[in-house]
Amino acid sequence: MAVRDDEWSEVHDNLIYEWPELVLGEASARRRVEWMVAQLKRERETDRKLVELGMKLAEQVEENARLYEESRAAVRMRDEFLSVASHELKTPLTPLRLKLQGLRREVETGEAEVVPRERVVRAVQGAEQQLRKLTVLVDALLDVSRLTQGRLALTWEDLDLTEVVREVAERFAQQAAKAGCALEVEAERPVVGRWDRLRLEQVVTNLLSNALKYGAGRPVHVTVEAEPERAVLVVHDEGIGIEPEHLERIFGKFERAVSGRHYDGGLGLGLYITRQIVQALGGDIEVRSEPGRGATFRVVLPRQREVDAG
Ligand code: ADP
Repeated sequence: MAVRDDEWSEVHDNLIYEWPELVLGEASARRRVEWMVAQLKRERETDRKLVELGMKLAEQVEENARLYEESRAAVRMRDEFLSVASHELKTPLTPLRLKLQGLRREVETGEAEVVPRERVVRAVQGAEQQLRKLTVLVDALLDVSRLTQGRLALTWEDLDLTEVVREVAERFAQQAAKAGCALEVEAERPVVGRWDRLRLEQVVTNLLSNALKYGAGRPVHVTVEAEPERAVLVVHDEGIGIEPEHLERIFGKFERAVSGRHYDGGLGLGLYITRQIVQALGGDIEVRSEPGRGATFRVVLPRQREVDAG
């Protein structure tokens, strides 16, 4: 009988096929034993392949479960982040609205024809402060979206880290006084290297603002040191410290080790952005801390631009 084309599509082993001589008892005993041994081997090989397949399937099932859990965690984190971000973005808006409303009311209904200059200046200063807070939050969000898309452009130039640290520390003078922290900067000699000014300022700003925020009103110590090939920046505070299990996590996106109720104004992005910048500059950042005994962040940067650094 002719075989149709579509019947050629599959070929299978016939595992139970026995030659006619075996069935009819015409084969020698040796041939029969050989046949049986061969059969056994084939069966064992089939079993082995089945076990292998089963193990691969189990691995695949485990991997799928892991991926599913990962995506659920990512969705959970995104939802939490949206609620934290909207809360944080809204926080400066209330005082901003109140300042502007107060000013309008005074202009509309005040006794005097002209509102005293210092009252206007104070209201506008208050509004500007809230706007600055909003800008910081929005900038952080923009940075994260740039980093996620790998679009962090760096402008390389020769810089003095000592000068950058001194400048940023000066900007923090008022905030440090408000937090009751003495800001001690130990950076005497120039430490020159090839970096990106704005990004470097951002690294110092993030570390200093955290040290003041979590520094419990105790001194904050900053040092800049030069090694032949590298620059080392250390920011040390004597504040609340970090539990060992959070030490690595805090560098993650949206990760915080404190409750938003006690320490506001944070999206948990500062250290994530800081590490990304430091790594883009070819360096590294690490933290040492004991709960209740402060935290020390150490940034090491190569002074020459590394070939593969963005
Ligand atoms: P944010 O300060 O906005 O929450 P960061 O990414 O800058 O976000 O920091 C992440 C978390 O790391 C903080 O929420 C805090 O729990 C912890 N942290 C950062 N710096 C310090 C510090 N100097 N001392 C204690 N905890 C810190």
